[in-house]
Amino acid sequence: MPDLVIANATLVTPEFTQAGMRITLGDGKVLAVEPEPSGTASHREQATADECRWIDAHGRLVLPGLIDCHTHFGAFLPFEEDLVTESRAAADGGFTTVCHVILEQGSILERLPYYTDAVGRLSTVDMHFWAACMTDEHLDEIPRLRARGIRGFKFFLSYKGDEMKSVGIFGIDYGYLQRGLERVADCGGVAIVHVENYELLQLHRARQAGNNDFLAFCHSRPPICEEVDAFATCRMALEARAELYLVHTGTAAVVDIAKEFRTRGLKVHLETGPRYLLIDENGTGLACPEEAITTPAYKSRDNADALWKALARGDLDTIATDSAANLRATKLASGSVWKLQPSWQEMPTAFATLFTHGVGTGRLQPSQLAQLMSAAPARIFGLHPAKGSLAPGADADLVMIDSDITYTVDRDPHSACDYTPYRGWQLRGRPVLTMVRGRVVMRQGQVTAASGWGRAVGLA
Ligand SMILES: [Zn+2]
Repeated sequence: MPDLVIANATLVTPEFTQAGMRITLGDGKVLAVEPEPSGTASHREQATADECRWIDAHGRLVLPGLIDCHTHFGAFLPFEEDLVTESRAAADGGFTTVCHVILEQGSILERLPYYTDAVGRLSTVDMHFWAACMTDEHLDEIPRLRARGIRGFKFFLSYKGDEMKSVGIFGIDYGYLQRGLERVADCGGVAIVHVENYELLQLHRARQAGNNDFLAFCHSRPPICEEVDAFATCRMALEARAELYLVHTGTAAVVDIAKEFRTRGLKVHLETGPRYLLIDENGTGLACPEEAITTPAYKSRDNADALWKALARGDLDTIATDSAANLRATKLASGSVWKLQPSWQEMPTAFATLFTHGVGTGRLQPSQLAQLMSAAPARIFGLHPAKGSLAPGADADLVMIDSDITYTVDRDPHSACDYTPYRGWQLRGRPVLTMVRGRVVMRQGQVTAASGWGRAVGLA
């Protein structure tokens, strides 16, 4: 039974961009996608007569809802508070599903019901999960977590010792990774790996002793750290016949390493993030580069340009933000680049920055953003076809983009994260309507759904 029509949409899918489309929705699902019938006015009257709600897109772009498959809720602020504020920020950025990395020291399986319940009480958008593996118990739980619908198992090769102890992350060694890859391969999961070589990080950190600036921080995590562990991880995954997903690829040379291993039969997906495309080691264009500090660090401008080219060629598979909300004063409090909390909340600006600097400059097509930010993450993590698609039968998750709006970036009013390194940037084009399972959750920057509309998705 149709209950909503989106008329005059320019539909953007990974395969095509087509103006003059009509999307009919009912019971939270897509019912039909078809060319706008001629004589639109009379159809509108008919629809209104049928008490069918009507949204005229006026030719604006409509994409399947964006999926941020790599986010950290509760990393620096309480998890349940983040679920409220950061899911609203996600909706503002056009995201309809986010994937949170579960970090537990004990059983993940036993805690799963807590996460599903919390999402149902507090989140505005839908949520899926990755499970971070750090202990033997976690390895033992992989098959049962896979049976519960979780496909992504995350391994951190950096962050050994105390570096990220405060957020509950404990890095692993190659032996543990090899065992994890075998377990993941056995049950048809995806091994997600943060590739940065800890020993080389230690060396380059020591070489920056006495320095305390953004460039020194970036030089303490040079490309070779990612390259070495990317190669080792790909080689081990090939040995284990495991499907691999490398997070936040910020080094262009990693793209070549993955390509080489693909020719050897390895299934490896590469994620990058807006920050690695937009920010360089000099902090060019940023009012306060320290606000942007994160790990892995930024590389040269040439490296960022090479990542854009790889993206355009289709050599990178997904874009995700690795967002973690924190407060500016807390992040910068120490006055030392070596003690800053990594990351920030990037979901509100992710699409708009890529649309401006990718589509707006001719480097990317809108269809590529639909692929990288919706269809591909949905497929890799087992959410497709309910998510990442606007084909009939899919969840009615979509985002409408106004490509003519120009605006100046400032902090997102919904997020607890009270800053963005992009502050002051001029952008063109942004999400103006976000819909989750048939309900408008954001319109013109206003969040219109109560907390708790979100559901844990993709779980058995
Ligand atoms: Zn992460």
